[in-house]
Amino acid sequence: MFPTFPHGATIPSILIAYAQAGCVPSVRQKLSGLHGKTPRGAMDYRGDPDVLEKYVFGGVPAAQDLRLHHTFAPIHLSCAVGASITGASLRSLPATRPEPYLPAFTLRMCTQCVEEDTAKFGCGHWRREHQLRFVRICTTHMKALHDRCAGPGCGAEFSIKNNILPGQACTSCGSTKSASTPIKPISEGYRAYCKLFTDALVRRIPELDLNNRHDLLRGSMLTHGGRANPLNKQFMSWLGHQFSYSHSLCHFAEHYVCNPDPVSASRFSAPALLLIAAFKRAVCGPPPESEMYRWSDVISPHPDPSDILC
Ligand SMILES: [Zn+2]
Ligand SMILES: [Zn+2]
Repeated sequence: MFPTFPHGATIPSILIAYAQAGCVPSVRQKLSGLHGKTPRGAMDYRGDPDVLEKYVFGGVPAAQDLRLHHTFAPIHLSCAVGASITGASLRSLPATRPEPYLPAFTLRMCTQCVEEDTAKFGCGHWRREHQLRFVRICTTHMKALHDRCAGPGCGAEFSIKNNILPGQACTSCGSTKSASTPIKPISEGYRAYCKLFTDALVRRIPELDLNNRHDLLRGSMLTHGGRANPLNKQFMSWLGHQFSYSHSLCHFAEHYVCNPDPVSASRFSAPALLLIAAFKRAVCGPPPESEMYRWSDVISPHPDPSDILC
């Protein structure tokens, strides 16, 4: 029987769960039947939902659902140019090789989410919302994310190479204990930033739309007089203790605010622009609810191949 899994489980997590349930022999077993391609293991296609839909999952979940619910791709929809978002525009976005500043360096998990997933789905899952580099907390449970084994003398960092799910025994020492990088009391600003970041996985963040980006950057600049230092100080006090590991991000954000070119800001965009958007919301309030619709409400589950990318 095929295992069920939550929205937000990463594609590698789903593949590992399938392999452990015996639905695929191994995540490394070479897939057969791919015309014109050198066969590789299922895990090697984690960035190619179309191949996984056809050659691993047999149609369910569909590639589009994998992109929408199990990758970082929706974050980039908020940065899409133009008003019309289609299934094809989601399909064109990178599934597992997004901009370099998005993913964390190691796998992370929330112990409480793992408990809840285990009760509901039979095992814990690596969740995409826990793998964002600048988001070090679970925004559901407001706890620091764990990123390493806490077995005696071990400390091995979680890695996808080990092919285990969160909560399962460490492949180095056999322990199921885990630990986080120490985190100081979580500031209200950091909590708001993390919440907006994880929201961007499931819903539109209108401030990031290219049509609104000039207002976002210019609005922040006006608020802070267009000078880098005062803005830096604002971020510092807003993020509190968490400023210490967000300062590179604040530096990027400052750069955009002082050089408000919406197009150049689209090259390295999401983490810094989300920081500015979260800060702006703290100062000016959120945009209308109607503009923050969920992607699953507007994305076609079965994109027409003739759709044109907006
Ligand atoms: Zn959690
Ligand atoms: Zn260990």
